[in-house]
Amino acid sequence: NEPLLAVDDLHVEFATRGGAVKAVNGVSYSLDAGETLAVLGESGSGKSVTAQAIMGILDIPPARIPKGEVRFHGTDLLKLSEEARTQVRGQRIAMIFQDALSALNPVFTVGWQISEMFRVHRGMSKRDSMKKAVELMDRVRIPAAKQRVNDYPHQFSGGMRQRIMIAMSIALDPEVLIADEPTTALDVTVQAQVMELLAELQRESNMGMILITHDLGVVADVADKIAVMYAGRIVENAPVHDIYKAPAHPYTKGLLESIPRVDHKGQELYAIKGLPPNLLAMPTGCAFHPRCPYRQDNCVTDVPPLYEISGTRNSACHYWREVLDGDQG
Ligand code: SF4
Ligand code: MG
Repeated sequence: NEPLLAVDDLHVEFATRGGAVKAVNGVSYSLDAGETLAVLGESGSGKSVTAQAIMGILDIPPARIPKGEVRFHGTDLLKLSEEARTQVRGQRIAMIFQDALSALNPVFTVGWQISEMFRVHRGMSKRDSMKKAVELMDRVRIPAAKQRVNDYPHQFSGGMRQRIMIAMSIALDPEVLIADEPTTALDVTVQAQVMELLAELQRESNMGMILITHDLGVVADVADKIAVMYAGRIVENAPVHDIYKAPAHPYTKGLLESIPRVDHKGQELYAIKGLPPNLLAMPTGCAFHPRCPYRQDNCVTDVPPLYEISGTRNSACHYWREVLDGDQG
C-alpha cells in the first residue's frame, strides 16, 4: 500500500569550498492523507532541506541529490520533467514558510495576490478570482475579509499575514501541505492560534501535513507522528504519544526536557549541552556522541543503524533500551 507521500533514502549534498556537505544523509519518512507528521530538529539538521527536495526547489547546483526517491502517489517526483513537476509543486503539494512578510509582495493587495492563484492555475476571471480570495480569507478567519481584501500586506499584523500565506497555500486544495516553521516568527499566543487554524484546515480537507519545527512544544496537539532529525539523519520516529510518554533516543529526550521560554521567541533553546556538529567535520560513530549523556565507548566508533523498536517506531541509538527505561548512562 503506497502512502500519499514517501521520502525514501534521500541524500542531499551541497558543494562548498570546504568540500561536499551531506545535509541529508539517508532520510526516509512517509505521510498518508489526513495525517500530520512533525519533523523536528535544530537548524542544520536537514529538516528544511528535505522539504525543499520534496518541493523540487533544490535540485540545482550547488545542491545535488545523489540518491533517493520522493514518491507522490507512487511516482518519483525527482525523475519527473520540470514541466510535469510544476503541475504537482505548489498545486497538489504546497508549502508555507516562516517569513510571511518577505514572501508577500508589498506592492500588491492581499486579495490580488491570493486571487492570482486562481487566475494563473485555474484561468478564472479577475472578478471570480477576487470572490474566491474573499472566501479564502474568511476560511482562514481573517476578520472583515470583504472590507480588507484590497488592503496591502503591511496593513496586517504578523499573524494575519501568516493567515494570508496559508490562504494562498490552500487555495488550490493541495493534497499535501508542508509548513516550515510556520509560527516561529510570531508571538506565542498568535503561534497557538495559527497552529490551531492549520489543524482545523487539515481536518476539514483531509490533507496530509508535514510540520517542520524546532519546537517540540507546538506539535503535541496537532501531530500524529514525529520524525526527529539530527545532523542529516532521522534519529527517532514514532507516534506522537509514544515520544511524549518515553523517548527512545537521548536527543529526543533532551528536546523534551527543554522548556520553551516566552522571552526567547524564535531562538532554539535546548537543555542539551553543546552545539550541533559541523557537517564538514562530522563526529565519528554516532554523530550525537559529543553531546550524549548515555555515551559508551562503542558510540565513538560504531554508527548506530535505525533500530526497529516496534512496527511504528525506530531509534538510531545503540542504547535505546536504556533510554526508554530512563536510566542514565
Ligand atoms: Fe548516545 Fe551512543 Fe545512543 Fe549515540 S548511540 S545517542 S552516543 S548512547
Ligand atoms: Mg529551516
